[in-house]
Order: sequence, then structure tokens, then C-alpha cells
Amino acid sequence: MPSPDLLKFRTAIDTFRAKLEDECVVVRDSQGVEDLRNRFLSRKRGFVTLLFEELKNFETGEKPVAGQLVNDLKVEVQEKLSAVEKRLKTPAKTRAEIDLTLPGERRPWGAAHPLRLFQREIETIFLEMGFGIEDGPEIETDYYNFEALNFPPQHPARDDWDTLYINDDLLLRTHTSPVQIRVMEKCKPPIRIIIPGKVYRRETPDPTHVPMFFQVEGLVVDKGVTFAHLKGTLEYFLKRLFGDKIKVRFRPSFFPFTEPSAEVDMECLACGQKDPACRVCGGSGWKEILGSGLVDPQVFKNVNIDPELYSGWAFGMGIDRIAMFAFAVPDIRNFYENDLRFNRQFHLK
Ligand SMILES: [Zn+2]
Repeated sequence: MPSPDLLKFRTAIDTFRAKLEDECVVVRDSQGVEDLRNRFLSRKRGFVTLLFEELKNFETGEKPVAGQLVNDLKVEVQEKLSAVEKRLKTPAKTRAEIDLTLPGERRPWGAAHPLRLFQREIETIFLEMGFGIEDGPEIETDYYNFEALNFPPQHPARDDWDTLYINDDLLLRTHTSPVQIRVMEKCKPPIRIIIPGKVYRRETPDPTHVPMFFQVEGLVVDKGVTFAHLKGTLEYFLKRLFGDKIKVRFRPSFFPFTEPSAEVDMECLACGQKDPACRVCGGSGWKEILGSGLVDPQVFKNVNIDPELYSGWAFGMGIDRIAMFAFAVPDIRNFYENDLRFNRQFHLK
């Protein structure tokens, strides 16, 4: 059983050993090595010298054990210091010594995400038509997400837009429409914008639903804007995106923030309107692509734009849905799995 004195001695030696390790790493020149040598080995006050002096306090039985410990430390200090001196004398590799013929480190290549490809394409088409691109917060107040868009608190249409709430008033936006309100509050017409962005719904993931997805909305406000402008612009947009020959139809619908409203269908790309058993269009030959309509006068009143003077139209479209349709992707969750083998397959044009 070693005495408490010996245990203390051993701990002190371990502490000096750790100190030596730390200091050797930061030594930068021969003066630094000399300083270190003095602190550990100087004949008067060096750490090792002082430890040797303590040996006389040990009982005869423990003296050789303690002596061995200090001696080991002394050897270690000498070896470490020579190693540092050697390191300092070795010059750093010069440029000429780097072998440029060796193969470089290959970094794995990424790929533009299929949803991003589609979003960019959509942005390009609208930018060319003179639209601007707007952005807004993903955490919204009930007012901007619902009320200002004509969804009063008990409106049944809120059920279709069920979302994730942060508290009674804050929620994750269910559409990018709040940005339309924000833009109309701060800008005077004419307004011509699209708003691409992430939106949230309280959905359980399945092949056609995820709780977060991408949407793009558009808004035009000016004097004398009619349904004909809406129809002409959206038809042009879809033909640019899917080709001149594509068939498009407008179908009456309902949205709280537009009046009249229309859903836009496109001919089914999967079956070419020929397969009564088609799984993409359910045999109807048509696929719903986007919702649209003339801005409800009440929405204009909410943002202090005079509906007698101005009119406008808006549309909203799920980028994921369109990409699934265009790329024949059977499961929306594929977009969010970050599998490069999937992501690399897609190209536009
Ligand atoms: Zn079909």
C-alpha cells in the first residue's frame, strides 16, 4: 500500500507531464525550447530538480519507487525537448515538393433539386413578362394568413387550410397569400408579382401529402384588369412551361379571396387523354393544375385599395404537384428524402 505522500508525489509528476505536453505543442523557436528546458531541468529551480530534492522526505522503502518516477519524468522531458528541436529544424514543405501529378481529392457532386428547377423555370417565365418576385415570413399571424384574405374566424373554408399553430395568433402560413396582403399594404398599384415559397398544412405524410411543400402565387393589380388578362397570362405561362400544344381549360370554383374563381386544368400528360383507367387523371383526361380568380373587392378594402378604381387577379399553384405531374413522380415524399440518385434524374428542356 503506497503512502499518501507517494500518491501525492505521483499526482504531481502527472501534472508536470501534462504541462510538458501542452507547452511542447506551442513552442515556435529555439528560444522557446531553451526556456522550457530551464523551467523543467534548471539546476536551481527546475521542476524536476525540485522533485529530486523531495526524495529525502520518503521512507527508505519508498525512496527507490519515488526516485524511479522522477527519473522517468527527467528522461521524458529530455526526449520531448529533442523532438521539438528536431521538428523546428525540419523546413515546411516547399511548393516545389508538392506533386502536382497526383490525383486531386474528388468531392461528390450535388444536383439542382427538381423542385428548385421548376421554381426557377416558373420565375424565369414571369420575370420575362415583367413580374417581380416577392418573399415574406413563413410564421404568420392569423390576420395575414386568414382574416385579411376574407376567412373570418368561423369560416368553413379554414378547415381546408388546417395548419400548425405556434400560439393562438401565430401559425405556419398555409399559403403564400399573406405576402400578397403585405405587398398591397406597402405598394400602390400597379402591382405585378409572383411569390414562390414554403407553406405548411397539418397533413399526415402519404404519397400525395406532406406537411411542408412549395407554392407559387401571382398577383396583378391595376386599373381595368379583367378575367381576360388572367386567362391570357395563365395560358401563356402553362404553354411556356409544358409546350405550345398543351390543352388548358378553366372551370368555375370557389375561393374566399377571389370572385369569380376558376380552377385551371391541363390535359393529362401521362395518358394523353386516351386512357380511361389512367391513374394520374382518373380517366378524365384532365389534371387540376392551379387555382385562380379576380381579387375579391373585400380583400382590396382590407388593404385600402379602392375596388371601384382598381381590379386584379391572382393565382396559386403547388410546385410539388406540378413537378410530380411533369416528371411522373408517383410519391411526393420522394422530393424530401434527399436521395441524390433521385434528385439527379431531372432536367428541364
Ligand atoms: Zn391521364
